[in-house]
Amino acid sequence: MAGFPIEVATRIKTLPPYLFAAIDKMKQAAIARGVDIINLGIGDPDLPTPQPIVESLSTAANNPKHHQYPSYEGMLSFRQAVAEWYRRRFGVKLDPADEVLTLIGSKEGIGHIHLAFVNPGDVVLVPSPGYPVYPVGTSFSGGVSHFMPLTKANGFLPDLQAIPKDVAKQAKLMWLNSPNNPTSVVMTKDYFKRVVEFAHQHQVIVCHDAAYSEIFYDGKRPASFMEVEGAKEVGVEFHSLSKTYNMTGWRLGFVVGNKDVLAGLGKVKSNLDSGVFEAVQAAGITALGLDEAVTDAIRRIYQERRDTLVPGLKAVGLDVDTPPAAFYVWVAVPKGYNSASFTEHLLEKAGIVTTPGNGFGAPGEGYVRMTVCTSKERLSEAVERIKKTGW
Ligand SMILES: *Cc1c(COP(=O)(O)O)cnc(C)c1O
Repeated sequence: MAGFPIEVATRIKTLPPYLFAAIDKMKQAAIARGVDIINLGIGDPDLPTPQPIVESLSTAANNPKHHQYPSYEGMLSFRQAVAEWYRRRFGVKLDPADEVLTLIGSKEGIGHIHLAFVNPGDVVLVPSPGYPVYPVGTSFSGGVSHFMPLTKANGFLPDLQAIPKDVAKQAKLMWLNSPNNPTSVVMTKDYFKRVVEFAHQHQVIVCHDAAYSEIFYDGKRPASFMEVEGAKEVGVEFHSLSKTYNMTGWRLGFVVGNKDVLAGLGKVKSNLDSGVFEAVQAAGITALGLDEAVTDAIRRIYQERRDTLVPGLKAVGLDVDTPPAAFYVWVAVPKGYNSASFTEHLLEKAGIVTTPGNGFGAPGEGYVRMTVCTSKERLSEAVERIKKTGW
């Protein structure tokens, strides 16, 4: 029997082209040629999840009471552990009953929150370059992204003054991300204060993505948006156990802050998903209660790697700032190249995979993103290869 054409919905058809497809193809071809690839493209910790967390999952998985449907909002004991972690880490008080919501990884909540608050035609303020889930979540709910360019001239921070008044008036949500993917830039408390003022002035809900708050260097801890007075009246903050505890595969995150915003997201979730496996939440409680020594050790490894890669890149003449946090290095491409051609050059001539900056949005043109999710030895090797290759 002949089939009929399977047609996808407009929201899928209008997705931006997958800019990394070309690079994937080149990478596969290089691997097939036997090239020893150094992958500085992945934003996924290569280190294992700390053992006490794994053991906690194992114990909890053996308890049949965890085998049934969890509640969509998460176990109260997990939400209490989140509130306790916030108190310890940021000095912020949260009510675990209605100011904390468990997520199936923060990406799930980041994608779904638009369904709760964005009507067709509503504006969402989105940093660019940035995490693609913000604009895609916006367009899936019929909203329109207004991109806030992150450029060297504005210190890679959204310029709130540059947002046209009429756009700000139509805006429903504003996305912020500090420490930032892909630039690694950190927002100060002063910046967050201005955001709170802006949000009040234009009645915009602030959604702050803090997935990298625990990956920081030189002992300088990034602030939480929730530390700023009035933040809880205007917004929420997304967190994840993925990067902090090397748990990307576990799918466990949370969002905290304004209880009406959380109730809206909770309504969407209660209709679409059935929460996180309770044994994973039990392991999450163990993770959040771990001694700082555990995350200190992880940070020390990233810092060693950063301090191998960044000075090496500077020594070969590349224009790069030393990141204060996150595991990304945002490298300006040399003269005569753009993001795509420099990415291709590094792959074809040095066997190094990087991510073209424009893949995160047009203002990322002129940059490539490298990650330090690879051993110090491989990062040294990458620098040596770049030195030998030149450009
Ligand atoms: C990795 C990442 C996340 C976290 O994703 P999970 O779904 O929690 O694994 C969120 N935001 C940004 C910007 C990220 O890079």
